[in-house]
Amino acid sequence: MESLERQIEQAADLVATSARIIIFTGAGVSTESGIPDFRGPDGIWSKYDPEDFTIDRFLSDSKVRKLHWELLVGGGLTMTRAQPNPAHYAIAELEKMGKLYGVVTQNVDGLHQKAGVSDNMVFQLHGDLSHARCLSCSTRYPMEEIIEWMKEDIDEPECGECKGMLKPDAVFFGEQLPYEVLMESESRSRSCDLCIVLGSSLVVYPAALIPRYAQQGGAKLVIINMGPTEMDRMADIRIEAKAGEVTPQIIDRARSKMGVK
Ligand code: NAD
Repeated sequence: MESLERQIEQAADLVATSARIIIFTGAGVSTESGIPDFRGPDGIWSKYDPEDFTIDRFLSDSKVRKLHWELLVGGGLTMTRAQPNPAHYAIAELEKMGKLYGVVTQNVDGLHQKAGVSDNMVFQLHGDLSHARCLSCSTRYPMEEIIEWMKEDIDEPECGECKGMLKPDAVFFGEQLPYEVLMESESRSRSCDLCIVLGSSLVVYPAALIPRYAQQGGAKLVIINMGPTEMDRMADIRIEAKAGEVTPQIIDRARSKMGVK
C-alpha cells in the first residue's frame, strides 16, 4: 500500500490538474466539529430508535414530535453551536481557487456554508437542520429562533404566521429527497473531472450514487474516510485518515503546485 505521504501528494496532483471538482461529504466530515456520525460507536443510532425518525411517526405522534424538539433544542441533534473544522475550510479554499464545481452533502448541519462556501455551491441532499418549516404555509424559521421560543417551556413550536405544525427542514425517513437538488447534483457529478468523497461510508442511497455518476462520466475518484466504504475498490486514491487532517494538506500542496500563494 502507498504511504499516506505519497497518497496526499497524488491527491494534490489530481486537484491541481482538475478544473471541475465535486466534493461529496457525509457525517464523517463533521465529527471533528463535535457532531457524532450515525453509525459509529457513539453515533446517534446507538442512543435513539431510527423508527422515531420517520415522517409518519412525526406527523402522527405528538410524543415523537416532542422528542425531536427536545433533541434539537438541547440534546443530541443540536448543531447550531457547532463550528466548521479544517476540512470544511479547505473545501471553501477550493472555491476561492476557482476549482469547486459543487459540494454535494448528506449533512444537515450547514457547516460548509458557515466555512464560507457559497450557498449556490452547496447541494444538501438531506435538507438542513439549521431551519424549520411550516407544513401548512411553508414559512421558514432559523433553528436559533425556535430554540429561543422553546425556552418559554412549550412542548411543540407552532408557525407564527398560521399556527401550522413546524417540522425540522431535514429529510426524514419516508420522505422524498428535494428533487431539484438531487437533479442538479447528478448533473454536476456526471460532468465533473474529479470527485472527492470525505467522511461517508457510502451506504445511504440515492446519495451514494453521486460518486458513481462521477466515475461513469470519466472523473477520477478520491475517497478519504476512516473505515471501509462501499466504493473502496473503485477509488483511484483511497486515503484512510481524518478528513480534517489530510484535506488541508492536499489543498495546500495543490496550491503550491499551481504556483498560488
Ligand atoms: P455514516 O455515519 O454512514 O458514515 C460516516 C463515515 O465517516 C464512517 O465511515 C466513519 O468511520 C467516517 N468518519 C468519522 N469521522 C471521520 C473523520 N474525522 N474523518 C474521516 N472519516 C470519518 O454517515 P453518512 O455516510 O454521512 O450517512 C449517514 C446519514 O446521516 C446521512 O444521510 C446524513 O444525512 C446523516 N447525518 C448527518 C450528520 C450531520 O449533518 N453532521 C450527522 C450524522 C448523520
